[in-house]
Amino acid sequence: MIHFDQVSKRYDGGFEALSSVSFHIEPGEFVFLTGHSGAGKSTLLKLVTATEKPSSGQVRVDGQQLKSLNRREIAFYRRKLGIVHQDHQLLMNHSVYDNVAQPLFISGEHPGDVKRRVHAALDKVGLLNKEKFRPIQLSGGEQQRVGIARAVVKKPDVILADEPTGNLDPALSRDIMNLFAQFNDIGTTVLIASHDLGLIARLNYRVLSLKQGQMISSPFGTNGGTYG
Ligand code: ADP
Ligand code: ADP
Repeated sequence: MIHFDQVSKRYDGGFEALSSVSFHIEPGEFVFLTGHSGAGKSTLLKLVTATEKPSSGQVRVDGQQLKSLNRREIAFYRRKLGIVHQDHQLLMNHSVYDNVAQPLFISGEHPGDVKRRVHAALDKVGLLNKEKFRPIQLSGGEQQRVGIARAVVKKPDVILADEPTGNLDPALSRDIMNLFAQFNDIGTTVLIASHDLGLIARLNYRVLSLKQGQMISSPFGTNGGTYG
């Protein structure tokens, strides 16, 4: 589903955030991306979302060569991604309902479908009873769950999350990870960047480790060493 082939990323100014990184993630896998602050985790996710372009190498997602996509094709490509941010980036002056509905409004979803899908997403994260609240009236864990509902409302093929539990205590972090696991159970590919090694160690998922821009572990997953 996600293929990196000798991907390097050098930012303006010359700093190489990723150095010849190769790995692949199969459809339906659940993978953690770890490494210290500055290791390149966010950069790697930005290459997957086509927010940044590699300086060299190839990024392929669901068969699509990202560097060959034009602006319009990138917008279309991103529809298959559900992106969860650490600071959730909710609209604080809008209701929970409107926050979750936002991606559907943007993609011009039929109004009749919007309500049904927003309710389905809020139901999955356990927040149906809070749809009229504003994010400011919710706890940190609830706000993060709104962010997840918004990410999954369009039934993405891939969920990408950058430090989704960064501001949460351990119990809430486990709840959030359980939510991701539930989406993975129905076939969604999940890639989560986190430096919470304690949390990752308790969960039995594949771990990709970055160290100073280099991939230092398990680049080819569990199904043999062939690279395709
Ligand atoms: P420092 O914290 O001084 O940068 P290191 O990077 O050498 O130290 O790592 C400290 C410990 O964390 C070591 O036990 C190392 O194996 C482990 N470690 C480092 N990077 C990762 C990573 N990306 N994923 C998992 N463990 C890591
Ligand atoms: P992580 O998510 O693991 O903390 P990042 O991918 O955010 O790591 O950053 C990796 C390195 O790239 C860091 O040294 C960071 O300062 C640098 N970096 C990130 N974004 C930019 C940018 N837009 N311009 C220049 N350097 C950047």
